Amino acid sequence: MKIMKLSVLAAVVALFSLFGCGTSVAPLTPVSPVVVIGIDGVDPVVLGELLEAGRVPAFQRFVDEGTLGRLGTFAPTWSPVIWTTIATGQSAAAHGVDDFLEKKSGKPFTSNSRRVPAIWNLASDAGRTVDCVGWWITWPAEPINGRLVASYAAQAQAKIIWKPTLWKEMEEQTFPSALANEIEPFLVLANDAEELRPKMRRAFPIPDQLDAHRGRLVNDLAWVHAADLSIAAVTGHMLDSAQTDLTMAYLALPDVVGHRFWRYHAPDDMHYDVSAEDQAAFGDYLALSYIEADRLLGELLAKVPEDATVIILSDHGMHVDPITMYEELALTSGAHEDAAPGIIGVLGPKAAKQGNVLKQTDRGDVYQVAPMLMHLLDLPVPEHWRGVQGGRIPLERILTEEWRATHPLRRSPNTDGDYRPATAPRVPTAGSSEAFKDNFESIGYLGGNKQQVEDAEAERAAE
Ligand SMILES: [Zn+2]
Repeated sequence: MKIMKLSVLAAVVALFSLFGCGTSVAPLTPVSPVVVIGIDGVDPVVLGELLEAGRVPAFQRFVDEGTLGRLGTFAPTWSPVIWTTIATGQSAAAHGVDDFLEKKSGKPFTSNSRRVPAIWNLASDAGRTVDCVGWWITWPAEPINGRLVASYAAQAQAKIIWKPTLWKEMEEQTFPSALANEIEPFLVLANDAEELRPKMRRAFPIPDQLDAHRGRLVNDLAWVHAADLSIAAVTGHMLDSAQTDLTMAYLALPDVVGHRFWRYHAPDDMHYDVSAEDQAAFGDYLALSYIEADRLLGELLAKVPEDATVIILSDHGMHVDPITMYEELALTSGAHEDAAPGIIGVLGPKAAKQGNVLKQTDRGDVYQVAPMLMHLLDLPVPEHWRGVQGGRIPLERILTEEWRATHPLRRSPNTDGDYRPATAPRVPTAGSSEAFKDNFESIGYLGGNKQQVEDAEAERAAE
């Protein structure tokens, strides 16, 4: 059920009350919604094979009704850097998020340390409504003309796993702050075995016996699966509860499973023997992670308004890790630091119908996403953004000729100098590293803690 779109008047009132900026805002023409679903690490070759096998029906919709192709990226290909470029249209040197951790403080980057506005700031300032869930480098949640659910990168907490997630009790996780209570029922915690384990088992067959190494790989899977289930459920709630001009969400299963389980996906690429037993247990995990992402994508597509433009994209692809291919007990066996291309897909009335072009050259690159989103929102593109080349955005070949012809690109001056000054990264609370570590270790798939999970399951079964 959809409620009425915020009127232009309400949007302008909200704008002035929230941001209090003195710049005049021209009346906005309504636009059809834009929904962006980022899925970290989706590789064009792996996805192509799954499409051929008919195992990913939601991705298949992009082939059947729109375009699904490659998206160029840049090196070193670190997720927080690339996702921030996707959100700002600018280079790492300009936006300042040049790694996972800020060199000076050793702390993970936080939203206050970003030097330039993100598209959720720009669209809000221009009077568009925005919902954003789980995107990289969004904690603490910034005030926007809509709703923001910030993710916080766990590596801050104990340098254990390099993916952000939502937390049940974290200050400044949402804007507005009252949104925290509203989304709480949708959060799935990695260490809540009772809730997570059956959901995981539906997607991944988990062997009964796991040694420490394999237990750790499954623990990391549990962590990211819980994050994706939470983010998808919160995003679904947002799509159900209001129609917003721009909705953005971030999922990560294919990336983490690619890093951890590539050895079983491509055992011949490894310089050690992958046992037949492991192959039988984990050989399909990478495919299953795409299939689970496809299931979540399908649930969100079902909630998207008919006139929406839906964009799916990944920040990079994945391949064998050239460093750890000799180390049987390494944590990672898949890698992407060398700018392995990702994917871009589009669906909706403005989508060009090119079908599956995953085997062709890149449709465009990560710098061209933010300008295209601004254009789709009928907003001018800042003149210094490098995704515009010769007055055009090359990536827009995934949109219809007709729409491009009737919507000339407008440019705006560089106003980055007016943006709030960047400040040093900060951590949510003192002791949050220890809290994360306890939380992570109690997930229960690690060899030593597995018994606790089984006991809990047996108790529940006996009730
Ligand atoms: Zn990534």
